[in-house]
Amino acid sequence: MKLIFTHENRLLVELAKSKLEVAGIPVFLKNEFAQGGSGDLAPHQTWLELWLERERDFERARQLLRDDGDGQSAWRCGECGEENGAAFDYCWNCQCPRPAHS
Ligand SMILES: [Zn+2]
Repeated sequence: MKLIFTHENRLLVELAKSKLEVAGIPVFLKNEFAQGGSGDLAPHQTWLELWLERERDFERARQLLRDDGDGQSAWRCGECGEENGAAFDYCWNCQCPRPAHS
């Protein structure tokens, strides 16, 4: 199992999940029922997480999440250099916001 995507915005995680499922990649969610207000947990620990059942799907899954958007181009994270799909406003890898000029 391998974590492929997590985000503060649960909708983005759900979107990524359905995209991978459509492509036939088995995935599952963690923290699906975690919500804010849980007291002991830091906020990032309650982010919805999208996991791959098979690690060997990782590269393909990442490619699929990258090839996003409607003709918009992918952007490169200024922090970690990772490429991100056009639909994502935050780096999938380090959660840095997308550069404004991109
Ligand atoms: Zn990054």
